[in-house]
Amino acid sequence: MSVNIAIDGPAGAGKSTIAKAAAKAVGFIYVDTGALYRSVAYYAISKGADVSSPESVTALLPEITPELKFIDGSQHVFVNGEDVSDKIRTPEVSMGASAVSAIPAVRDFLFDLQKKIAAENNVIMDGRDIGTVVLPDADLKIFLTASAEERARRRHIELTEKGENVTFESVLADVNQRDYNDSHRDIAPLKQAEDAALCDTTELDLSQATEKVIAMINETIKSKEQ
Ligand code: C5P
Repeated sequence: MSVNIAIDGPAGAGKSTIAKAAAKAVGFIYVDTGALYRSVAYYAISKGADVSSPESVTALLPEITPELKFIDGSQHVFVNGEDVSDKIRTPEVSMGASAVSAIPAVRDFLFDLQKKIAAENNVIMDGRDIGTVVLPDADLKIFLTASAEERARRRHIELTEKGENVTFESVLADVNQRDYNDSHRDIAPLKQAEDAALCDTTELDLSQATEKVIAMINETIKSKEQ
């Protein structure tokens, strides 16, 4: 039986950085499910489709084959054989992912792929609805959050380091907009599962937050072995 760890939370809470480091520490596969929503948005944008139109996006789904491959322990996202891992990290695709993720057909389309990976591997899977919808029986659920300002500050540094020319204000506006979209949509909204442990990283630096998460995971692994 594989061990499944679910980490959910809003954009910029540090999920991917922490989950990636934790996965490396415990020898699990790190699955970034946001990349799947981003890959659908990327494809829709590349076809000139309106990402907020359920009809337009749903019509494109049969043309999309998303795949996750793990190369040297890190996740790469492929769309129809093309490695789009870097191309899906732009602010435009972030907003597009938030829009397409509210479309039920998109969530259904990506559900089986996520379930299959978790069934076949020991995973730390991060997203918005992993503990509530995708892996309701996960061995450990963590809800990772931080204040919107702190999350925008972190994302702004990340984008600036990548050479993106964006202001802090625009990043904060994006964070607030995405939080709103993600928590107000009808289907699989972002919310803490009842049995998830809350981890607020506003006052923690990355290494403290990572240590905390690794300790929780190790505890879970130990109790599964007994
Ligand atoms: O985590 P990331 O910011 O890459 O996710 C991009 C978008 O995909 C999020 O804003 C959210 O709308 C959506 N998403 C989702 N469910 C997931 C993962 C991501 O709805 N499990």
